[in-house]
Amino acid sequence: MYGLVRRRKRKTAQSASEGRAPRARTSRGAATIKGGTLAEGTEGLSRRGFVRAAGLSLLGAAAAGGALGLSGCSGSDAQSGVAVENKGGCGDFNESLYTDAFPVKTRNVPVLDVESGIVRQGNVAFEMRTIAESEINRTEETDVLVCGCGLTGSVAALAASDDGKTKVLCIEKMSKGRGMFEGMGVVGGKVMAEAGNEVDKAEMMDRMRHAAYYRVPIDPIKLWADRSGEAADWLQEKFDEGEAGIHEYYKANNANAHNFEVPQTELEFKCEKWSETTTKNAGGAGIYIVADLANTLSKRSNADLRYNTAAVQLERNADGRVTGAICKDADGYFRVNASKGVVLATGGFDANPAMLKAWCRAEDIAACASWCPNEGTTGDGQLMGLAVGGQMDPLPAAIMNFDFGSPDSFYASNLGITALVSQGIMINEQGRRFCSEGLPFQARSNAITAQAHYGTKTFRVASTTQLGKNAATILEKLQPYIEKDWAHEASSLDELAEWMDVPAETLKAEVAQFNTYVDNKKDEMFNRPMAKATKVEGEKYYAIKHQSSILATVSGLVVDYHCRVLDYDNEPIEGLFAAGGASGGFFSGNYPRHIFGPSVGRCVTFGYVSGQTAAQGVN
Ligand SMILES: Cc1cc2nc3c(=O)[nH]c(=O)nc-3n(C[C@H](O)[C@H](O)[C@H](O)COP(=O)(O)OP(=O)(O)OC[C@H]3O[C@@H](n4cnc5c(N)ncnc54)[C@H](O)[C@@H]3O)c2cc1C
Repeated sequence: MYGLVRRRKRKTAQSASEGRAPRARTSRGAATIKGGTLAEGTEGLSRRGFVRAAGLSLLGAAAAGGALGLSGCSGSDAQSGVAVENKGGCGDFNESLYTDAFPVKTRNVPVLDVESGIVRQGNVAFEMRTIAESEINRTEETDVLVCGCGLTGSVAALAASDDGKTKVLCIEKMSKGRGMFEGMGVVGGKVMAEAGNEVDKAEMMDRMRHAAYYRVPIDPIKLWADRSGEAADWLQEKFDEGEAGIHEYYKANNANAHNFEVPQTELEFKCEKWSETTTKNAGGAGIYIVADLANTLSKRSNADLRYNTAAVQLERNADGRVTGAICKDADGYFRVNASKGVVLATGGFDANPAMLKAWCRAEDIAACASWCPNEGTTGDGQLMGLAVGGQMDPLPAAIMNFDFGSPDSFYASNLGITALVSQGIMINEQGRRFCSEGLPFQARSNAITAQAHYGTKTFRVASTTQLGKNAATILEKLQPYIEKDWAHEASSLDELAEWMDVPAETLKAEVAQFNTYVDNKKDEMFNRPMAKATKVEGEKYYAIKHQSSILATVSGLVVDYHCRVLDYDNEPIEGLFAAGGASGGFFSGNYPRHIFGPSVGRCVTFGYVSGQTAAQGVN
């Protein structure tokens, strides 16, 4: 049932730039009001201005009539006045009637337009234009071209070159591949079996699909559930082949850690050479893992790993098969012919503010906090795939949003102020507590962005009590944030409220209410588990600015069970694979942070499968 099938030949050839383009928004209907033309004196107004002016004058007339719509449209008056011509419900539809009704500029309706606060702007390598032959300075031949050398790309290139024969070229746009993660979600495999942690495959598929509220195709999640255990075993073999001495291990995390009971699917990584803080620091282990995999790859005689080299545009032959890509390095453009296929492992688009704005929910990108040191993730893979007719996940794209965002970055755990940031209660700009502080990161982030101004002014509020026995160290670490005016220490809640610019009475009432929940061991408002909660009280009170942050985007090109990119007829595009953050069909709406490690689980499984399948030359 899941066997590889040879896709039917395309009847028409398309050039790389002829791919299915997003449908442009069209304005339906002319600049008239039904049954009429532009009124005298309105010629100089823009269409938008005219509609708004017309709307306002109609409202004015109704108000002058003394009954703003209601009596004016009732009974015989409505018939004789013909306020709305009756065409049996078949009136002209005009989008601007809806978008122009708002007194503020809107993005879709009724979402406030917002620029992405993300300041990380990477260099986009994708080019839509036709690149002239005269600009291409050389042609190289390979079997498999892997674009990107983050986790997914390094895994795909290793899997493709495992047979010692398949010629693999792996290109990375930056001077180093991105690697940000600590845990990997898998179903099955040796380490899980040894730990006696057998997770039911059907249950996990159901959990993942539920998390997407079933807005996902069938196969990507099935692929993860079927082969992630095998991929984890294979990855350990690559670590054994490497020099760092990395080991996968299972640590029995609390399955109810985030008040969402789920089977524990996470494997973590350890290495004697790593310090305690390597793994504690958010994303820390990933940097070393990707470096080790890349190092192993670079030693293989049939693999060629090149940094500072970008994939720019895919190329296809007359049958529509992807034959390779135009790439770019310090010497300019060059063509790579990849006889067995191209794997897009270029990650997401979190370092491309314009794309974030175009494809994501406004609230998901409004906060400026962003946590990722690599700026290579500019959506090149998604764009290259779309340009050859690839199917993109439906919008809005899903983002891995966590809380712990600071005004310009992320309060990583190694900063030493976690107790304050994570123990305090969450307070919005009205001074109100707004969610359970025990939720998964992504849910807390969503709760933040659901507050006024997309949560760009929300806080954690704590007291001496929450700091516990390490209070002195935490306060020392907090000092730089106080100096930046991101945090404040106060002797009373009144004083704290003044710094926060929230109503003091509201804040005091919320804190008092929360303290009764602690006494009663029951959070009547948000159902936070209260066993370990402590009262916000003591000599000093603290507030720290605490926002949503972006870690990665997780939407991309929809793939099948073999990681082949599908077109909009769900037919695989020959010669083209996508994996990891560049691929889609796996998440929808949100990143399900209550499930353990699904993103990295997908990267490793899909990297492994795409590399292996491409090397087999079956497509
Ligand atoms: C702090 C942090 C912690 C995280 N922790 C976890 C975790 O514990 N578990 C989990 O499941 N997920 C985690 N994630 C998410 C995880 O980082 C991503 O899901 C994962 O790294 C995606 O891997 P990838 O290789 O597909 O893409 P990336 O890691 O983004 O790598 C893509 C690479 O492609 C390169 N590239 C882009 N365009 C081109 C081009 N045109 N040509 C050549 N190269 C190109 C980029 O420079 C980059 O190096 C975390 C994320 C962050 C930021």
